[in-house]
Amino acid sequence: MGRIEEKIEENKTKGKSLKIQCSECNRKTRHLIFQSIDTSGSELIDQQYSVDWANHYQIVQCQGYETISFGHFNWFSEYQDFDWDGSTERLYLNRLINED
Ligand SMILES: [Zn+2]
Repeated sequence: MGRIEEKIEENKTKGKSLKIQCSECNRKTRHLIFQSIDTSGSELIDQQYSVDWANHYQIVQCQGYETISFGHFNWFSEYQDFDWDGSTERLYLNRLINED
């Protein structure tokens, strides 16, 4: 195992906006970032090589129907290949869980 370095930043992107697919609007819409947590890290394998990753968590509001959701964007250097940049984008939508 190499040396691991990780850093966490709070609300670095607060107030900015992003275009994300919205399930209410059924298209990509502008979302305002209310709160954000950005983490990034790397593990130094040797002098030439490191494994890197980043996670961005955001509470976002769609500027269409004003729906608030939770977004998670991940990037991992080891997932990269010629047809994928190594990033995944997830939006957690409200779902009823207290129904019997
Ligand atoms: Zn929307």
